[in-house]
Amino acid sequence: MSMPRKIRCTVAAIADHGGRVYTVDLTPTSAVPAFRPGQFLHLTVDEYDPSGFWPESRVFSIASSPRERNRLRICYAVKGRYTTRMEQTLKVGSEVWVKLPYGDFVIDGAGDAVLIAGGTGISAFTAFLEALSPETTSKVTLVYGARTPALLLFQEMILDRLARVPAFDLVLFTEVAAAGFSQRMAGLPRVPHCLAGRIALEPLWPPASDFCTPNSVFHLSGPPVMLKSLTTDLLARGIEPGRVRTDAWE
Ligand SMILES: Cc1cc2nc3c(=O)[nH]c(=O)nc-3n(C[C@H](O)[C@H](O)[C@H](O)COP(=O)(O)OP(=O)(O)OC[C@H]3O[C@@H](n4cnc5c(N)ncnc54)[C@H](O)[C@@H]3O)c2cc1C
Repeated sequence: MSMPRKIRCTVAAIADHGGRVYTVDLTPTSAVPAFRPGQFLHLTVDEYDPSGFWPESRVFSIASSPRERNRLRICYAVKGRYTTRMEQTLKVGSEVWVKLPYGDFVIDGAGDAVLIAGGTGISAFTAFLEALSPETTSKVTLVYGARTPALLLFQEMILDRLARVPAFDLVLFTEVAAAGFSQRMAGLPRVPHCLAGRIALEPLWPPASDFCTPNSVFHLSGPPVMLKSLTTDLLARGIEPGRVRTDAWE
């Protein structure tokens, strides 16, 4: 595992998804150190003097692929004081500092996996999903929920994996319906399961053959309230604690 490094970056692009959710692309001034899918970085919008203390920062999963050494991508939702500040200050061309890599929430692809993502929690899984190939043999199911279909980030990449990777399955939850979304999904070469409401295990249980296997490890990423309720529910349904892994958001 690489030693964390501090790198000055320029904001190269910001995508506004609505609902105060953003994707930010950063161009680092030196090559990104090696990291593993699922790891996170610290980002500060304050000036940083490398001879001084690291300023206040927040952590974000690294959504870009470890193969990209000249770009970093994060997705964030405005929640509190600091992300509000990010929304107000980050512009294309702004400078920020990041330090990375951190975390042991790593998906190694060695066995069957169910990835459960709420909102921007998808960022912890995107590098892993991007690397799935048609030859992937381990069963991977992504259960992904967002407030609206427009806030299902990385849709193009995820639907492309669904079309190309037979071992990959997709369950989508949206709280608010949007005209045309179900029809669009129904027209795809492989149709994802589209469900209404917040992510819940009830409609997926008892585990249908295309959802998980007896060996699947459950990886959960998203807001604390989601992690807590789904972890409790998985354990109550008899999943051994060793098969439930969470990316502990504060
Ligand atoms: C491993 C991990 C990965 C994450 N990945 C993402 C992601 O990809 N996208 C995303 O949107 N969010 C992610 N988060 C959550 C994100 O880091 C923020 O905690 C969240 O957005 C809260 O919003 P805020 O910082 O604006 O809230 P604030 O109200 O500013 O702070 C929220 C919490 O941050 C902590 N905090 C407060 N002051 C300080 C300080 N001075 N220095 C350090 N911490 C302080 C406190 O625990 C506080 O309750 C992740 C969190 C973790 C732990």
